[in-house]
Amino acid sequence: RSQLKQGEFVGSLDCGTTSTRFIVFDRYANIMAQHQIEFPQYYPQPGWHEHDAREIKETCDACIDEACKTLEGTGYAKESIKVIGITNQRETTVLWSRKTGTPLCPAIVWDDSRTKNVVVHYQRRLENKGIEIEPGVWKKGEEGVDALRTLAGLPLSPYFSAIKLRWMLDHNKGVREAYDNDDLLFGTVESWLAYNLLGGPATSIHITEASNASRTLLLDLHTLTWSQPLLNFFSFKPSILPRIVSSSEVYGEIAYGPLKGVPIGGLVGDQQGALVGNKCLTEGEAKCTYGTGAFLLFCTGEEIVKSAHGLLSTVAYKPGPNAKPVYALEGSIAVAGSAVKWLRDSMKLISSADEVNKLAAQVTTTGGVYFVTAFSGLLAPYWDPGAAGMLIGLSSYTNPCHIARATIEANAFQTRAIVESMKLDSQTDMKHLKVDGGMTNGDTCMEILADIGGFSVVRPQMRESTALGSALLAGSAINLFGWDISRPDTLAEVNTAGGTTFEPKLDESERERTWVRWQSAVDRSRGWEE
Ligand code: ADP
Repeated sequence: RSQLKQGEFVGSLDCGTTSTRFIVFDRYANIMAQHQIEFPQYYPQPGWHEHDAREIKETCDACIDEACKTLEGTGYAKESIKVIGITNQRETTVLWSRKTGTPLCPAIVWDDSRTKNVVVHYQRRLENKGIEIEPGVWKKGEEGVDALRTLAGLPLSPYFSAIKLRWMLDHNKGVREAYDNDDLLFGTVESWLAYNLLGGPATSIHITEASNASRTLLLDLHTLTWSQPLLNFFSFKPSILPRIVSSSEVYGEIAYGPLKGVPIGGLVGDQQGALVGNKCLTEGEAKCTYGTGAFLLFCTGEEIVKSAHGLLSTVAYKPGPNAKPVYALEGSIAVAGSAVKWLRDSMKLISSADEVNKLAAQVTTTGGVYFVTAFSGLLAPYWDPGAAGMLIGLSSYTNPCHIARATIEANAFQTRAIVESMKLDSQTDMKHLKVDGGMTNGDTCMEILADIGGFSVVRPQMRESTALGSALLAGSAINLFGWDISRPDTLAEVNTAGGTTFEPKLDESERERTWVRWQSAVDRSRGWEE
């Protein structure tokens, strides 16, 4: 042990939808060690998607253990890790006991659509009764819907945590009892992980980070405090809610395991993490991450841009406890890489995710096939939980190559829909899109994206941007390597290795023709679900 070298590294715990990884970076964002573990997905009924919060925590502990061993295997002491950050799947809702620290029910995952009726209930309430935005001032109908957007930056949708929390309270007796007995703690995944890593019920550090809190439908986006009008609207008492913290500060020290005593200095939602990791830190910069779903974030600086075209306003990051927050416009696609996974696991059309590229590249068009991948309704900019998954334009000519290509195109068309909205909301054109995430490993996927989008697609060599984002925030919190997230120039040396740019090659008239066809396919998919 004594021969192990001392370095200076920063760790990032990236807890995604399907897997957890722990990555150790050096000051240039070289990866020194990493470990990744998939965790189980539960689909108890159509449209339902659950995680076991205990299993999430266990995979985090195991990833830290294994990555530390790998690091030591390379000759560096684990004490070289000076600080860690956490980045996480957002909106996924965890409820646990204040007394025992154990989860009280399965976590409801962000893309779960069981709560459609809860949304309908609140839509009716906005129409009939409205929302009281300050004592005695009620907003009803369209004004009520708009009031939600003004307060929280979000539309009513099964996607956001408040809706999931309402469902859990109304359908689970144990949760209800804990609520009544003041034993219930609510949190998103970063909140759950920080609570555990920082000591669990013994220390009871119940915090949530601002970018994650901005996905609950309970945060006042302007003040970054819990919104009393929204708490009243959904009937929640504030004692179940975590304390809101910034994205970059020391929240406490890890209480156990190989990194015992190491501070946690960064927390950030995974998509905001990728925005930071791509160094899109100032107004006008955008990135899209293509993992299970796809998420395009456009940094709007210190200004909250309220979308009139189906996008969300969200906190990008809050650089420190006393710093002003930075905001973003966001468009989310529920199904991106997961459609490729579906071709592989359910349809058995391909045997690896990458094979979708090979199949799709064998044809130059889909032969008129459009695939609206609305497996759990459509998110931005459509916001239609009732849209159904649909393949249209099939003929006896159609073969698996066409289906593979249509699956990739679906992703590109949905990206274009979001980019069109962003142009309208921000009045700026987008020439380049920085991309990362599992699906960007496919060159054909990227070529099709550039063709259908009509913009350059810029793919960096080191694509763990999500993890890097939380590492940058954590490093900044203790001023490691001179990093300061509020000053992008201090990050100039980070992740400078080149990458690949994909330029659009498709003829403009063909691009517009297929775009119109796509929109009419989406129209046909809507209103099908009962
Ligand atoms: P997450 O963080 O959401 O779990 P990842 O960023 O790890 O997701 O990406 C995984 C997704 O990317 C999977 O859904 C998989 O189908 C897709 N994927 C992985 N490799 C490729 C590839 N070469 N081409 C297309 N899609 C891919």
